[in-house]
Amino acid sequence: MKIDLKKLISAKTERIPFEGSMDLSAELFNGEHPFHSPVRYTGEITSHTDVLRLTGQVEAEYSTRCARCLKPLVIPLSVQVDMVLLPDNGETEEEDDIFLFQGDKIDPEEVLLPELLLNIDMVYLCKEDCRGLCPRCGVDRNVTQCDCGGKQIDDRLAVLKTLLDSKQDH
Ligand SMILES: [Zn+2]
Ligand SMILES: [Zn+2]
Repeated sequence: MKIDLKKLISAKTERIPFEGSMDLSAELFNGEHPFHSPVRYTGEITSHTDVLRLTGQVEAEYSTRCARCLKPLVIPLSVQVDMVLLPDNGETEEEDDIFLFQGDKIDPEEVLLPELLLNIDMVYLCKEDCRGLCPRCGVDRNVTQCDCGGKQIDDRLAVLKTLLDSKQDH
């Protein structure tokens, strides 16, 4: 949905509200399809003393896995966006809170989507003290205590790891 900025620029209107949803289920991010359900957004574009501003809120559910135990997680994301819109005249530099637009129409999704992606963390955990998987036998150490651990095995693993590392170097 494109919003015509001419009305705001000519000061016929002071605010244009928008709302909608984006289907990102087919989109790849970091090699995954993390958005199974539609990403919803609401907001408005306002004009105040000739400054155009887009404010909005994006709500999404981000499917990922615990970085330690690989349990599937659905992370609710709620992102507030507040951007000044400037015409791209080739002179203005794009900055964190400035969005450069071309022509006289703007699609709020072009502004909102990058902001949503910026707010995704690299690592999520199922709980802060997740004990992860045993690197040797693979059991979920939140659920079971394996008996494969121990000093002796750690040493053998260390030797194995050195061998593997030296192989990868060549
Ligand atoms: Zn976990
Ligand atoms: Zn184990």
